[in-house]
Amino acid sequence: MIINDAHCHFFSSQFFGTLARQRGTTQTAGEMCGELHWDDPGPADALADRWIAELDVHGVSRVALIASVPGDEVSVAQAVARHPARFVGFFMLDPAAADATDRARRAIDELRLRAICLFPAMHHIPLGDPRIVRVVEIAASRPGVAVFVHCGVLSVGVRAKLGLPSRFDMHLGNPLEVSKLALSFPDVPFIIPHLGAGMFREALMAADTCRNLYLDTSSSNGWIKYAPGLTLDAVFTTAVAVAGPLRLLFGTDSSFFPRGWQKGVYDTQKHIAERAEISAADAALIFGGNFDRLFPAAS
Ligand SMILES: [Zn+2]
Repeated sequence: MIINDAHCHFFSSQFFGTLARQRGTTQTAGEMCGELHWDDPGPADALADRWIAELDVHGVSRVALIASVPGDEVSVAQAVARHPARFVGFFMLDPAAADATDRARRAIDELRLRAICLFPAMHHIPLGDPRIVRVVEIAASRPGVAVFVHCGVLSVGVRAKLGLPSRFDMHLGNPLEVSKLALSFPDVPFIIPHLGAGMFREALMAADTCRNLYLDTSSSNGWIKYAPGLTLDAVFTTAVAVAGPLRLLFGTDSSFFPRGWQKGVYDTQKHIAERAEISAADAALIFGGNFDRLFPAAS
């Protein structure tokens, strides 16, 4: 079975540089990683090669790499240009930034990235805001470009570890708001990560009513603790029943080295799929086929 991972973070040197600035220090990526007991990512090309070696170990075909701070599009673009058959570039965008639309256009048209990632709770911007609509219009006018919208509980592990404040406004990340956008832009694929990250019911309602809305299964989905008695098995069975096997995208939420690709997340979800008696054909879609359909490999 082909495995594609729809959700990995590219923690580049530039990424750590941005966090250092937010911290008010001039620390290098190496210094920051030393503090975290993580490996220094080095140049983007080297990090890209490390990812490929890691994916080869685990038999993973292709992955989405997310530029995980606004302004780090170039690092991911470099990785994608180096391994176009293996990487699909996603990028975090702050739609409140003055240059947001120019940045989005450049990331897609020149850097060949394929999904705009919005974090409304982080950037304190409601999904119905005209600045978001303008960004989605850019995706809409470029077939094959998706919009990823983080909803529900948002915690960024690396920020917490570095003592960076995370004043996120969680009520802004509601899948029902995503459904409103998705209905207005029916040709744009929208992706909600972590099955709604605590807003599972809303994510299901959104997916049920918008054919262009996809859910990614990434991370350990620790949010199930908010729903008494809920199990990941029940979550998967329900997601397949409501969204259908064509609109679920397997992901891990892998990010730093030496931890590397999160095989444990894959194993857990694979076992759940087997226990739930999801057919081999449907599992092939969820774990790889849907990703290839949404983001065809560069020829
Ligand atoms: Zn993530």
